[in-house]
Amino acid sequence: VVVMEISEFQRLMRNKLSDKDRQMGSAFLMNVLMEEVGELSRAIRKKTRTRVAEEIADVIFSTISIANLFDIQIEPILKRKYIDRPLSEISQRWTDVTWR
Ligand SMILES: [Mg+2]
Repeated sequence: VVVMEISEFQRLMRNKLSDKDRQMGSAFLMNVLMEEVGELSRAIRKKTRTRVAEEIADVIFSTISIANLFDIQIEPILKRKYIDRPLSEISQRWTDVTWR
């Protein structure tokens, strides 16, 4: 089993794609992300697990491209927002939306 940290994945993507990402620009990369989110949504509706897995990978890939374009290291932010905080704090905003 090959394990890769998010920071390592992001670094490899930056080496491979940062020139292309800069050429494409943030608006284009955002469109790609939205397209991939749409594909994930369709895969979830069809309940096809392998398709869902592929599209989750595409969404992460597209998101990391945007992070790299803005020179953002996402791993420490993920840790701060979702590992270091209690569940009640993480779900606070979702609960608000549900009860509105
Ligand atoms: Mg896709």
